[in-house]
Amino acid sequence: MIELLKEILEECYKYRKNGTVANYIPELAKADPDDFGMCVVSGDAAICSAGDHGKSFTMQSIVKPIILLLALMDKGEECVRALVGVEATGKPFDAFNYSDQALKCEHINPMINTGAIALCTLICGETYDEKFSRLLALTRKMANNPLLEVDEAVYLSEKATGSKNRALAYMLKAYGMIEDDVEEVLDCYFRACSIKVTSLDLAKIAFVLANKGLNGETDDRIFDKKHAKYINAVLMTCGMYDGSGEFAINVGVPAKSGVGGGIMAVVPGRMGIGIYSPSLDSKGNSFAGIKALELLSKKLDLSIF
Ligand code: GLU
Repeated sequence: MIELLKEILEECYKYRKNGTVANYIPELAKADPDDFGMCVVSGDAAICSAGDHGKSFTMQSIVKPIILLLALMDKGEECVRALVGVEATGKPFDAFNYSDQALKCEHINPMINTGAIALCTLICGETYDEKFSRLLALTRKMANNPLLEVDEAVYLSEKATGSKNRALAYMLKAYGMIEDDVEEVLDCYFRACSIKVTSLDLAKIAFVLANKGLNGETDDRIFDKKHAKYINAVLMTCGMYDGSGEFAINVGVPAKSGVGGGIMAVVPGRMGIGIYSPSLDSKGNSFAGIKALELLSKKLDLSIF
């Protein structure tokens, strides 16, 4: 497997400067487009890594499935569904555009910013500090890495410049979808996006989702298998932004990308994959990361279809 990963990285190295590193969060613009690493954790918890697999980067949207997971664990499916839907577009089959003036749960999705921001309010905790600490604890548990921390520079950079997320969060508030103080909710969301991981951490987190909620190394149950089913289904339809359909055809497994350049892919019952290459395509997905996953999926017949 290590040889295969090395081969794939070599073949996809030429793509690593296609696209651009995210710069709307100023601190993310400092990423080095030469970095390219990959890690696979498989059935027997065996770990295979290649390239810059020890390089750390921030999770960004890859934390969204964990926000969803904790909301499901804390409040249950019914409560989550009453606030945030699961459809990719939220539009009826004959819609031209969003012309209505209402914002409803079925319009938002846990893998887009509004959905993830709203779900932060469902995490249990007296304060937003406590909610975030519980989210970080769950992330550490899934990665089996007690050392995961927030990248303060990225967190402060996004907090200082996150006008669009502020606008989205105030819109949620205006439509009665969140009740709490907008700045506190956003602070939790910004810190969540800034959790610093490596490809290995992502592969381990993905493996727990592939393993129906069981830690691959200890066999401890971290969450109920019904939550893994829910999250993997949402990842399959909406995890790769507006490139999810293309990804479903070319790779065919649940996955989540983030603007930090990471991709976490879940191969149900088989493996968890973590990739890092910070240059993004026009949809916001790691350019070389997708190419590498396409190749890996072909070589190992990973598609679930
Ligand atoms: N923190 C980023 C934002 O809210 C996450 C975006 C992403 O990775 O998709 O803009």
